[in-house]
Parts: sequence; structure tokens; C-alpha cells
Amino acid sequence: FVEVREGLARILVPKAERIYDAPVFYNPVMALNRDISVLAVGVLKPRTVLDALSATGIRGIRYALETPVEEVWLNDISEEAFNLILKNVRLNLGVDGERIGERRFSFEGEKKVIANLDDANRLMAEKFRYFDFLDLDPFGSPVEFLDTALRSVRRRGVLAVTATDTGVLCGAYRHACRRKYLAEPIRGELCHETGLRILIGTVVRYAAKYDLGVEVLLAYYRDHYFRAFLRLKSGARKADGSIERLGYLWQDENGRFGYENSFLPKRPAVYGPLWLGPLKNQEFVDEVLKLANEYPLAHKKTLPFLETISEELDVPFHYDTHALARRNNLQVGKLAEIIEILRGKGYSATRTHFSPMAIKTDAPFEEVLEALRSLQ
Ligand code: SAM
Repeated sequence: FVEVREGLARILVPKAERIYDAPVFYNPVMALNRDISVLAVGVLKPRTVLDALSATGIRGIRYALETPVEEVWLNDISEEAFNLILKNVRLNLGVDGERIGERRFSFEGEKKVIANLDDANRLMAEKFRYFDFLDLDPFGSPVEFLDTALRSVRRRGVLAVTATDTGVLCGAYRHACRRKYLAEPIRGELCHETGLRILIGTVVRYAAKYDLGVEVLLAYYRDHYFRAFLRLKSGARKADGSIERLGYLWQDENGRFGYENSFLPKRPAVYGPLWLGPLKNQEFVDEVLKLANEYPLAHKKTLPFLETISEELDVPFHYDTHALARRNNLQVGKLAEIIEILRGKGYSATRTHFSPMAIKTDAPFEEVLEALRSLQ
């Protein structure tokens, strides 16, 4: 093992040439994901948290050390991971812990930490409506855990999901997207935002059958993964309200796109169903950002990334200036200048975290194209 430091945690991780060769998984790039998660938990102040797919335990241990949470559960199906979780919890909490079941240890330090060896679905089925904050951070798609997660999280709790199957959600493997998400993905410059919206749309449809609505607190794409923090809302009306925010996207060869809120598609050649509602709650994001400014973060990009998200106009989809120029035989203009022109005409326009070459705007397609033309 080698010891690494991340946030306030010290973690033993297996030595390996490449991260996917290690017997227990640890990816330092995901420190940004964990930073934002720690900040989110810091703002939300849940009492009970589950890190359902824990690997080394880093995520749950950071929650225990860096947030006001009272009780954290760390779970993994792998025995090697479980044994490492036990080591890492002892290292960070400074208590030995006691066995409270064949596959379960409890540690009572300043915080209560429980380490569990099991299939996440079995643990979540056991802990019905127990967790205020439930984190799914799987290899690939979280869909196989969604049903039990929605039963295990409290009815006004928060579900945090990561999806690393970007190839599926971004249309490289369309049939896999149909199977896992029952949705039609798009390829090209809108694939990342669409992938994120398909993921959220899927959670909305899973949640609706339990009479749960979904509010997006924060959702983003970064480093080939998607992440969404979703606040559940209890009640059939809330579920209806979330379903009403589902819809479809279409796009033509010039890059012009449109979308419509509707339960069933109204025109051919569409992508979806997907979430067309907001990708953030501005108040929540600003609180997360405020905490980030006061906080020793593990990843140097966490703060600038959160700033971009905070300033980003929250409308569905964006214009990738390179794709737009290519599709319409134009030269690429400077992003700042295009934004300036659109704002000069009274539209809102900002950069977007989805791509350094793209803008979000409420201006119609023709105006964006016109701005690009005027810079030739
Ligand atoms: N959350 C960790 C972090 O932030 O470093 C990384 C988790 S890793 C991507 C996914 C973990 O899920 C692996 O350790 C794997 O053993 C575990 N896993 C896979 N299937 C599982 C299941 N059905 N139940 C519980 N754990 C599972």
C-alpha cells in the first residue's frame, strides 16, 4: 500500500501501475468529484449518509472528517475493499471499532462510522428510508442501484449519482443507452449535456413510481463522468411535476436545435426522453461556492469549476462555436466577442462548463449564427 492524502483524510491505496489494475479502486482525478460532494454534504447537513460503493472508503471517510454528518455507512461488495476500508477508518478515526455482525463493523469516534461488506442493493433494501444523503459512485452506470437507492433514501433526502458510462449516454453505444436508460442518445456537440439530461430523466422516471419528485440541486459533466445531486420531493403531485419537465430534443445539420416538453415525442427524429428542467438550484450552488472559498480543497480545479457553474446561464443546451462554424462554413470567432455581441442585443449569454468552446444563451439560433458571421 501507499498512503495518499486527500482533503483531511489519509488513505492507504494499493500500489498499481494503472488505476484499473489495482485490487481496490482509487482515482485521484475524482478528488474534484469528492470535493464537490463534501461541500454539498457540508451545505445540506444530513444526519445519516451512505457511501454505497466505497472501494477504499475515501469518500465516506471525507464525509465523516470534513462535514457535520453524524453517521456514515461505507459499503463494498469486495472483501479486499472491505478490509482496506476497515484499515482506513481506523487510520482516520483513531478507534479500533467493534464487530456488530458477520460482515459489519461499527466505529464510534467523534462520528459514528459503519463499514459493511455486502451487495449495495441488499444493504439498501435492509435500510429502508434510512439515509438523508445517499451516494452512488459505481463503475459505469448507476441504473442497477437506482430502485433500491430510491427506497433507502429518506423521502425528502438527497440522492447523489455518478455515471462514468459516458460512451453509452453520449451515443457511442446507442443500443446500450436504449437498454439501460430507455432513451435515444445524440452524438456530436450536444452529447454531453444530453447525456446528463438523459441520466437525470431516468432518475425522474424511476422516482415517479414511488410518488417522488426530483429537484436538481447541481448536475454537471467533467472528466468523462456525469454527476447529479438530486433532492427528492415526496408526493404524487411532485412526481407529476417532474414528469412534466421531461421532453425531447431535435437538431438539424446546421446545428439548429429545439426541444419540447412532452411525455411522448411529437415529431420524428428526436432524442430523449430527457430532463429539460434546471441543472442547478442557484441558491444551493452559491452556498456550495461560498463554502468552497473558505475550505481547504483537495483539487485545484474545484473552485474555478464551481465558479463557472455558478455563473452559467441555466437554459437547456448550448452552442459549440467550433461545431457551428464547421457546420456553416464559417471561421471560429472568439467566445468572449460572441458573448459580447449577443449581450449587446439584449440577450443573456455565458460560458458553460460543458465545453470551453461553447456558450449558453437565450438568443435564437439565427442570432448566434449572425454573431459568428459578423466576426468573419
Ligand atoms: N466511491 C469510490 C471513490 O470515491 O473512490 C469509488 C468506488 S468504485 C468506482 C466502485 C466500487 O463498487 C468498487 O470498489 C466495487 O468493488 C464496488 N461494487 C461493485 N458492485 C457492487 C455491488 N453490487 N455492491 C457493492 N459494491 C459494489
